[in-house]
Amino acid sequence: MIKAFKAVRASRAFAFLAALFVAAFGAAVVLLALDQQRVIEATSRLQEQTVPEIIRFQRLARNLEQLRQEGERIFAVSTHASRQQSVFVVTLIASHPSILEHPPAAHLARETEHFLGEVVRQASTDARRPAASYDEWQRIAARLGMLVDDVSVQGVNLANNDLNVVTSAMKLARYKLMTALLLVGVFLLVFMILVRRHLIYPLQQINLALSTLSAERPAPEFKPSTMLEIQVVEDSLREHHALLIQNDEARLGLEKLANKDGLTGLMNRRHFMQSAEVELQRAQRYRRPVTMAMADLDLFKRLNDTYGHAAGDAVLRAFAELVQDTLRQSDLVCRYGGEEFAFLFPEIGPAETEKLAERLRERCAAMQVPLPDGRSIMATVSIGLADASECPIEIALKHADEALYEAKRLGRNRVVQSDPHVPVIESEPDTHTGSLF
Ligand code: GH3
Ligand code: MG
Ligand code: MG
Repeated sequence: MIKAFKAVRASRAFAFLAALFVAAFGAAVVLLALDQQRVIEATSRLQEQTVPEIIRFQRLARNLEQLRQEGERIFAVSTHASRQQSVFVVTLIASHPSILEHPPAAHLARETEHFLGEVVRQASTDARRPAASYDEWQRIAARLGMLVDDVSVQGVNLANNDLNVVTSAMKLARYKLMTALLLVGVFLLVFMILVRRHLIYPLQQINLALSTLSAERPAPEFKPSTMLEIQVVEDSLREHHALLIQNDEARLGLEKLANKDGLTGLMNRRHFMQSAEVELQRAQRYRRPVTMAMADLDLFKRLNDTYGHAAGDAVLRAFAELVQDTLRQSDLVCRYGGEEFAFLFPEIGPAETEKLAERLRERCAAMQVPLPDGRSIMATVSIGLADASECPIEIALKHADEALYEAKRLGRNRVVQSDPHVPVIESEPDTHTGSLF
């Protein structure tokens, strides 16, 4: 049993998928843009704030280092003038903005300036005094050295912080980009599978069904489709097939009607000539015996005159029935016109055909056709036979008609074989029926 599916419109389904894709892809793009924004912000902060800050830290470290070097120099030189010069430089460095901006450095610089100033002042009165203060100076110098290190590390840390922000934002952006691309790939794959399964495959099936659609073949069958548009096309194909069968039946019916004689139901003359031509050619090609015959009901005009035209029609119908009863399946027979009938007997020569024709004649003579008024009519038939195995259909008919004429001449109600040695007189008009050729 076919499972019933709830169908959806293909246009809606694909519009929904497209909206889903746009939403997912849009969200991924927005997230990526946010990450990029973070990278840009961190980079510009690095340029505008951090780099000047680092330069300030470097300058501070350099000044502190120079402070330490000037201190060392005070203890190294021996003249008072050189010491005073160094104290002057120390004072200058201690009041430098880079030092004043940094409280721990400003504090240490003031302490250093004060200590060194004191050392130089005392050295002016006591030349041995600087050597006595050297231990204390070394502690201050060590603190200066540590501060230089601290300040340098602070500068590097500042740069590291910003670089870390940039790196992590870029890493995140890379993962997000990869995820977004993966999502796009998966979506496209699913989309292609859906399109293949719900559109391309059914369309291929429809195409196949269309190319083989005919009344001779069974109705096309399809897997139940979930797409409404496909279902509509499939349904109309099935309807079209049903219509084809109807048309074919109607055509066959019409064809039968067109090939039949209306009164007797036998083949009409046109159809007989076509079929007999084919049969005759086949027999001649394979050198098989074949016999042509013409039959004419005797004194039919008188019968009509005596009993009426309707009675004549009844006799014609009764004779046609009798003919169909007597002949073999392969024999061809038609109402040739009026009360004349033509026959083609494949596979039997004139001698055997004569027996068949004789039986037909006898049965006709024994036939009693009842009339509505209770009476019944009898009729006889004359039959002419001709061998058709070696001549065209028209000549065979002519021979058969001549034999029929001879049967009439000899007194009717008889079967006469055509004499193959008597030539056919082509131009002579048909004196017997006047309806042939
Ligand atoms: P013969 O023995 O020489 O054949 O004489 P006949 O009277 O049969 O021949 P004829 O050709 O003189 O007459 C044929 C008659 O057949 C004339 C016509 O009225 C009759 N006939 C032709 N077609 C029909 C038909 O469809 N129905 C009826 N009832 N009569 C027909
Ligand atoms: Mg007749
Ligand atoms: Mg006649």
